[in-house]
Amino acid sequence: MEFDLNETQSLIQKAARDYAQKVILPQAKEIDATEKFPAEILRGLGDLGLLAVNVPGVYGGSEAGVVSYSLAMQEVARACASTAVTMAVTNMVGEVIAQFGTEEQRQKYCPKLASGEYLAGAFGLSEPGAGSDPGGMLTTARLDGDTWVLDGAKQWITSGAYAGVFVVWARTGDKTTHPGGKGLTCFLVEAGTPGLRIGRKEDKMGLRGSNTVALELEGVRVPASALLGELHGGFKIGMMALDGGRIGIASQALGIARAALDESVTYAKDRKAFGKSIGEFQAIQWKLADMRTAIDAAHMLTMRAATLKEAKKPFSREASMAKVFSTENAWKICNEAVQIHGGYGYTREFPAERHLRDVRVSMIYEGTSEVQRIVIARSLLSE
Ligand SMILES: Cc1cc2nc3c(=O)[nH]c(=O)nc-3n(C[C@H](O)[C@H](O)[C@H](O)COP(=O)(O)OP(=O)(O)OC[C@H]3O[C@@H](n4cnc5c(N)ncnc54)[C@H](O)[C@@H]3O)c2cc1C
Repeated sequence: MEFDLNETQSLIQKAARDYAQKVILPQAKEIDATEKFPAEILRGLGDLGLLAVNVPGVYGGSEAGVVSYSLAMQEVARACASTAVTMAVTNMVGEVIAQFGTEEQRQKYCPKLASGEYLAGAFGLSEPGAGSDPGGMLTTARLDGDTWVLDGAKQWITSGAYAGVFVVWARTGDKTTHPGGKGLTCFLVEAGTPGLRIGRKEDKMGLRGSNTVALELEGVRVPASALLGELHGGFKIGMMALDGGRIGIASQALGIARAALDESVTYAKDRKAFGKSIGEFQAIQWKLADMRTAIDAAHMLTMRAATLKEAKKPFSREASMAKVFSTENAWKICNEAVQIHGGYGYTREFPAERHLRDVRVSMIYEGTSEVQRIVIARSLLSE
């Protein structure tokens, strides 16, 4: 199922599909097995303009829009979910800087993120004690003369060991006068800044080729020009970035689910039991039918959210609906794919088990399923 795509969207989709199928897919098993960070692949994505799909051309981006971004994410995730999440965060960082940055910040960072010169951008919101509730963060930034000094710890930072620039959230307001999210500010911190240390690398269930690390910030000094957006305006930037990011994760889950379905159809035609191919059993047919139906429904929800965002209309509720539906159904689809593959589905011989491991986190990061339902319900109740 495809909506009518415009020329740019078709070109981006085709470029992403060709690269994903020819270059990324053949490496996906090894990336997972060896936890290899896909550096060369990312440079290739940069050459194709897929690391800054929705960033204006004057800052090195493709300026191809949110629908194009979703289509590209789906294609890359269909081949390798680890590569897709790395690409997603870099796109998000580039967009945040393009949207909220000063002209100097845009010109300095966006082209490096877009081209792959930086390999990745990183998004430093979560902390060991604050994930769903960023207002509970403890990292602080205090002004010392004309420099900001950041102290604290970040957790779960995708691409942290490879990123050229980090968007870091810190508390700048006093907790009594600026409680919760009200006292947070964003800063751009370059890799290698003294005091910024890459901590423990997480040993994850899936997305094993993506790099997930803790960050320690001890007396990290950045100039006043590193402040992104407004003082105490960080919460709004975080929430706006995550709204858009949720379209990316819905797309990532869709791509993984599509791979699981395609492989299940092939297997159902090949595998014989009781003298027939298992695809001739109604039990298997119904699974395949339900998998495809859920994928199409998730695709429509995701395209709706992407189209709204592209048209600069409100899209927060729709992005949450797309994310919760797409990710939870992708998890069910990947589970059914393992079932269709029988015992082989439980082995590393087939990609089905990798898809199941990879897709699980899509219900957790960039806002858990519970948080998405809170966003949707709040919006309904405030109508
Ligand atoms: C692989 C991976 C990559 C990540 N990458 C990044 C990254 O690049 N940058 C970054 O900043 N973060 C990143 N994260 C962090 C991710 O966004 C958080 O894990 C997520 O927001 C959940 O926060 P938490 O883990 O602290 O869970 P908690 O917030 O502690 O939640 C625990 C449970 O309680 C539930 N819960 C919490 N509050 C409520 C509520 N009000 N109502 C109902 N239920 C609630 C949650 O839904 C969840 O089920 C990543 C995480 C992972 C696993």
